[in-house]
Amino acid sequence: MLVAPSGAGKTIIALSALLPISYERDLKIIYLCRTHSQSARVIKELKKINKASPEVDILGVSLRGRNEMCINSDLLRGDLPPLNAMMMCQRLRSDQSCPYYARFLNVHIEDFLNLEFNEPMEAQEIIKYCKDRNYCPYYFTRALLAQAKIVVCNFQWMINAEVRSRFLSLLQRDLSKCILVVDECHNIVDLSIRANSTKLDYSFIGSCIGQMRTEKLRKKYFTFALFLRNHLSQKKKEFSESGSYDINPQELLKEIYDEMNFKTQEDFIKFLKSLEAHKLDRVTILARFWLDWLSKFRSDKYFFCYYMKKEKHTNISIEIIALEPREGILPLFHQSYSCLNLSGTVNPHIYNKILGVNKKDTGYKEIIATSPFKRENIKTLIVRGVTTKIERRNTPMYQKILRKIEEVISSTPANVGIFCASYNIMNALYRNGINKIVEKHGKTLFYENASMSASKNAVALKSFKNFAKSKSGAVLLGVCGGRNSEGEDFPGDLMNAVIIVGLPYESITNRLNARIEYYNKIFKNQGWLLAYLYPAMQRANQAAGRPIRRERDKGVIIFLDFRFKHQLKWMSEWIQEKVRVVPDKPNLISNDLKAFWK
Ligand code: SF4
Repeated sequence: MLVAPSGAGKTIIALSALLPISYERDLKIIYLCRTHSQSARVIKELKKINKASPEVDILGVSLRGRNEMCINSDLLRGDLPPLNAMMMCQRLRSDQSCPYYARFLNVHIEDFLNLEFNEPMEAQEIIKYCKDRNYCPYYFTRALLAQAKIVVCNFQWMINAEVRSRFLSLLQRDLSKCILVVDECHNIVDLSIRANSTKLDYSFIGSCIGQMRTEKLRKKYFTFALFLRNHLSQKKKEFSESGSYDINPQELLKEIYDEMNFKTQEDFIKFLKSLEAHKLDRVTILARFWLDWLSKFRSDKYFFCYYMKKEKHTNISIEIIALEPREGILPLFHQSYSCLNLSGTVNPHIYNKILGVNKKDTGYKEIIATSPFKRENIKTLIVRGVTTKIERRNTPMYQKILRKIEEVISSTPANVGIFCASYNIMNALYRNGINKIVEKHGKTLFYENASMSASKNAVALKSFKNFAKSKSGAVLLGVCGGRNSEGEDFPGDLMNAVIIVGLPYESITNRLNARIEYYNKIFKNQGWLLAYLYPAMQRANQAAGRPIRRERDKGVIIFLDFRFKHQLKWMSEWIQEKVRVVPDKPNLISNDLKAFWK
């Protein structure tokens, strides 16, 4: 494990150390990142190494999900979730109605490799290359994977066992012949839980019924799908608010058995296998979900619930939530040739407590680098008198927070990042007039949107950065734990000050409570710390580090919630060293900052 502040050069250190070993021992490097900009950074560093090593062409590619690489407007128009996009792509290919896939099938990848692929390629570059030639970029990249020395991709390709096995077969490699790099490894716990959780939603069941009808499946399959749809419809009426609602998994099985006249679990398994045997995309997913349910419902490592989302349209799903992150992660660590965990903010003690990677005989080694940043270039304040505690979230409090924000904006030379504890708080700042304050000081406001795809967010971020270079400056409003508060660099003047509004705790839901309880059981009553407090501080640390990316960077970090004062020991060391708690007095922040920037 290598822990060093962001900006210390972890990526180039990792690549320079691992590439010679990978050539010497014929290993492939799989570099796992969370965001597009993290992947792009890896390829950028790899290009530099490639340029400096004329004796070898380093074959490196970055792979994104189908949704992010597809260029077929029929698919893109729908802005579909990944599962639906996969099904639509499957349909377009089998109907031979995707021209980009048809042209890709005529590509000789070997010719491309010999003639044109002499440096690492970032996903965006591959997309452009393929767009110019009308090839499908997604399948084109997949075809390159077996030849690539280094593959940069999202965690999702490796954490779920089924996806991993398909991915490794594209790589034509066993995990034991791969070195794994886990970038910003503090994310892996959450990502493992997400990747190993599954759900069926109301509209998906509707589309299964449609597929059963088109394919003229037997009546008993319809009866099953209709029962599920009616069941969810009933629950939709029962639940008045968004949130998760516990299910007793055994009781629901009993209801299914009664409806379907199954006498035993074996009857249900036989039924699901016969459904799966039709090899129809949606119907298969439905059958596998229930096979999964049957294999997990007695385990305390899973939580079963309905999840209702009341927005423009109400949607309800039935979910199996994984509580145990180690099941997704430890096979990776144990089966790969070697694994390098990188992070700028992880607390190795907590990481090892949850994952136990430092156990005897695992060969675990830890390097904790000291901060290269100059202490006099950093100002860190925790402000008293403000908070986003649920019971104190009201208009006067938001207006007070906005007054403090205005002090920061007015006394910062150029650009400011504001990362809130949640989208609710971000929206409340918006409702209370943050845009007017930003305008008043001649700056332009950019803000993150929860429903934006990664590509759309990248475009919005690029505009912020371009604008940030202009004279008037800009303000970026987002959330802690979001796309822009982690893994995104704002060096130099791109972000002179960052404000963290509120302690970014996850909202308390039944799902979170189930995880806390599970951790209490396996980590001697430390569930609250490990599942609730520590992840929140991790998100705050990540966001706080955005403006200070290079040794000579000068920046301000403001925590607008007095509760941070009580959690100092969970802050990054370089922040702890400089932090000052200041009283709730008007103009105190602005005077302090003006003196700092003078
Ligand atoms: S084959 Fe490629 S271009 Fe065609 S729909 Fe699928 S992902 Fe999109």
